[in-house]
Amino acid sequence: MPKVLILGTGGTIAGIASDPGRSWAYRAAQLGVDQLVSAVPELAGFDLATQQVAQIDSKDMGWATWQALGRSLESAMGDDAVSAIVITHGTDTLEETACLLHALHDGLKPIVLTAAMRPATAPDADGPGNLAQAVRVAQAAAQRGEGGVVAVLAGRVWSARDVRKAHSHAIDAFDGGGAEPLDEHAPWPMPQAQGWRVLRQSRPPRVEVVTSHADADGWLVDAALVHARASGDKLDGLIVACTGHGTVHQKLEAALQRARDVGVVVWRTSRVARGGVQPREGDAWPAAGNWTPAQARVSLLLELLSARP
Ligand code: ASP
Repeated sequence: MPKVLILGTGGTIAGIASDPGRSWAYRAAQLGVDQLVSAVPELAGFDLATQQVAQIDSKDMGWATWQALGRSLESAMGDDAVSAIVITHGTDTLEETACLLHALHDGLKPIVLTAAMRPATAPDADGPGNLAQAVRVAQAAAQRGEGGVVAVLAGRVWSARDVRKAHSHAIDAFDGGGAEPLDEHAPWPMPQAQGWRVLRQSRPPRVEVVTSHADADGWLVDAALVHARASGDKLDGLIVACTGHGTVHQKLEAALQRARDVGVVVWRTSRVARGGVQPREGDAWPAAGNWTPAQARVSLLLELLSARP
């Protein structure tokens, strides 16, 4: 039977509420990954290994945790005894980690992200069911010889390319930004195989996100440029969460032009929940496709990293 390695990073799936009747008042990232596994009787029959990579609320996700995760994944990829990997994660930034892994993984083994919207102590805890399904999906994919990155949440399997948090508190909180979940037997999208090495860079480029909205006059962009000049902490990229299909307030656009003039790379995404901003011929500003603003930020910083000498 294929062995599944479960990497724990924290999140609500590992959260505890002091009063189970008030499950919204909890602390994320309290239980170890071993405890999560032993709370699911169904997993007793599986060949599993566990490793605690981090123990954080994923709202605090960042480069150092991604580096630790990358180290564990790189060694799991080279370990013939491991056939598939499940990662327990917080829901808040799961889409960013999914985007990162989709870019770096070579697709030879399955990686399945899972999470929960209720802490482990809640009467309606969704973590145990999600974890059990994630292990089943990971193992079945390994048996079929399937690789890639997916997220398993609330009974559905999402490609890492599409998945995003779409509801702030419902148990069924994720969607594909207009894309459908994967069918049980559909092939998984091929990841981009950029390799884990980029995570060895001690510091990622600085890429920030700005939103276009009524009265958006570029004040934040100009303030960032002034600060970057004064501090020497260079601004490398800007992701714009645009209105509609990639439109920007004309005053913000003027500020973005000033940023571009000093070498800042600007990409457009949409602040609308579904559809993204699809690239079109003659675009003055590059469009990031279906990525959310937060995912496009990850994607741009990887692109800037790969261009570093
Ligand atoms: N703040 C939590 C986290 O992202 C939320 C969750 O997991 O649902 O870690």
